[in-house]
Amino acid sequence: MLRRTHSLAGAISGYVVCPNLAGILIGSLAGVIADVDEPKGSVGRSMLLISYPLNRAVGHRTFTHSILFSSLLFVFTLVITAIASSMLHTHFTFEFAWAVLASTGSHILLDMLTGRVAVFWPSKKKIGIKMPLSMYFIVDKAFFVCLALSSIFVVFYHWRENTIVSSLLAWLQ
Ligand SMILES: [Zn+2]
Repeated sequence: MLRRTHSLAGAISGYVVCPNLAGILIGSLAGVIADVDEPKGSVGRSMLLISYPLNRAVGHRTFTHSILFSSLLFVFTLVITAIASSMLHTHFTFEFAWAVLASTGSHILLDMLTGRVAVFWPSKKKIGIKMPLSMYFIVDKAFFVCLALSSIFVVFYHWRENTIVSSLLAWLQ
């Protein structure tokens, strides 16, 4: 899938497990990070020092598209959150790590719908639906439209759940 589709899916996934602005931001960033293994892609081009050697070492849709990578990012986010909450004397939360796991998971699932992914890397076996490039863009566009409509629903739901707005809506009814 294209970057915009992964970013939107990540934002929605992040919001589902961490229902606030941080969940959306973390989700949209973590939703695209897996494509750092492709130096020709928009994510990889912005991080050539990492993407080029990574692609040479393991290829595309391997390590960064695996359960192992998602789990490592989950643990990394937990550690960073624990350090930050300790330094800032704030409440420790698992929510940010769940947002990272959900959005990296959404990336893997979406890529499996339009191609093959080494989800169990270091096992080299790739799993997913292989399709021609012309079909890839059609499926990507269809998913993007569905996700955009879903995000409108999520925003409306959150907006309605907001106490000020819901009290206003209750007053209008
Ligand atoms: Zn990918």
